[in-house]
Amino acid sequence: MTIPPAESAGPRLRVAPSPTGDPHVGTAYMSLFNLAFARQQGGRFILRIEDTDRARFREDSEEQVFDTLHWLGLTWDEGPDVGGPYAPYRQSERLDTYRPYVDRLLEQGDAYHCYCTPERLQEMRERQQRLKQPTGYDRLCHGKSREERARLDGFSDTPVVRMLVPTDVELRFTDLIRGDVNAPHPDDQVILKADGFPTYHLAVVVDDHEMGITHVVRGEEWISSTPKHLLLYRMLGLTPPAFAHMPLLRNEDKSKISKRKNPAARLTWFQEEGYLPEALVNFLALLAYPPMTETDGSDREVFTFGEFSDRFDWSKVNPVGPIFDMKKLQWLNGVYIRELEPGDFTARLLPFLEDGGVLSGAPSLGELGRLKDVAALIQTRIGTLLESVPLVAPFFVADDALVVAEDARAGLADNAGEVLDAALASLGPIDDAGRGVLGSESDWNGVVIEAALREAIVDGMGIKARFAFGPLRAAVSGARISPPLFESMEILGKHSTMTRLRRLRDSL
Ligand code: GLU
Repeated sequence: MTIPPAESAGPRLRVAPSPTGDPHVGTAYMSLFNLAFARQQGGRFILRIEDTDRARFREDSEEQVFDTLHWLGLTWDEGPDVGGPYAPYRQSERLDTYRPYVDRLLEQGDAYHCYCTPERLQEMRERQQRLKQPTGYDRLCHGKSREERARLDGFSDTPVVRMLVPTDVELRFTDLIRGDVNAPHPDDQVILKADGFPTYHLAVVVDDHEMGITHVVRGEEWISSTPKHLLLYRMLGLTPPAFAHMPLLRNEDKSKISKRKNPAARLTWFQEEGYLPEALVNFLALLAYPPMTETDGSDREVFTFGEFSDRFDWSKVNPVGPIFDMKKLQWLNGVYIRELEPGDFTARLLPFLEDGGVLSGAPSLGELGRLKDVAALIQTRIGTLLESVPLVAPFFVADDALVVAEDARAGLADNAGEVLDAALASLGPIDDAGRGVLGSESDWNGVVIEAALREAIVDGMGIKARFAFGPLRAAVSGARISPPLFESMEILGKHSTMTRLRRLRDSL
């Protein structure tokens, strides 16, 4: 129970995820608000892994927590991977730490052994419900020795330890976000399980105390636990930290965001879909925090972590559960995508194009050149990096392997054949050397192409521009939706464009 002195006088905050599966988006949200305050105050941010629930433990989950938080740029100063003065930072490695606290509570009479079997507890609960009584442990074991208790029914040889919650105690506390909170009275909580592992309530109090945590910032779902924790602090004669309970993230239907209901509850989903980490950080901040107010009084929703942290103020956090508005995220992601340097944007597309089978491995110089040209066409048109895959794919497929999608083919008007004929004629046939008669490849550019096609199809055939180019789009991209047509033709080059137009024409 010796506690090393704090290195700095600044506040110490922590996030304490349980490694029970894919990291939850709430872990990032919580880390963000903890970190914003810690950085503003020159304090420290700690990552602690709460892995005492062995039944729900998942081996690779911890690594995923590290990876996703790193990806978001939410870095910690102390943690299982980086160490720190209060190591170890994994609860399963701290089991020896908890026992002395339990012994002390037992000696003081603030805790007692409970030998009730799970079956007895179940029957007790059912009886209470039947009689419409408040549910909670009935203290059968309190004040009894093992021998006395063994003579009664529902006895288990391996006891748990429960804290004795006084009935007359004031359970109010002040929350940094919510002000005065009055939580319901708990029953005698288990603090040490039969397997010798501490429960969350005990471990969190002991660890927060031993790690010198000054502010506990966590989800609203823990609000009813806080009075239990405050009681433990009091029984152990320890100074409690300050508390802030962040509003829960909600689905559109107001239900709590869960991995079962919403794919966006998984942090890895945002990586898979191609959200930019900086956009997600901005979005998570906006969920519970107002936009930045400019000096002229206007609001700005797009801001960096640095700005957020500099201006952070607990009193501005909205305690009402924010709706996880995917449209807003999509918009914000588009804003961040458009702000990327072209080279950076292209680099961020690469893993998606490889996963999507558009590129196999690192691109050659030629491929990279083409990709940059295509990237410039789509940067303003996508909401996620994943959306780039079908838009880029047609530029990296052989002309004779391009498949015109069913819907693009079905959408072709009756006069598609004539339109394609007119386009082929106006762009000029390909001579024996594979070169266009109408100018060389080097003259081939979007402006020239557009002028030629408009003249031939819009003016020549009298077809409105809105309908004129659908067949050409289907021919060169194989899809109904593609990057701008004339620039796409320019990038593909004359030979490829003409071959694709001809292939669709021949297939009609
Ligand atoms: N292990 C808890 C969780 O998974 C931590 C709650 C707290 O921050 O006290 O959310």
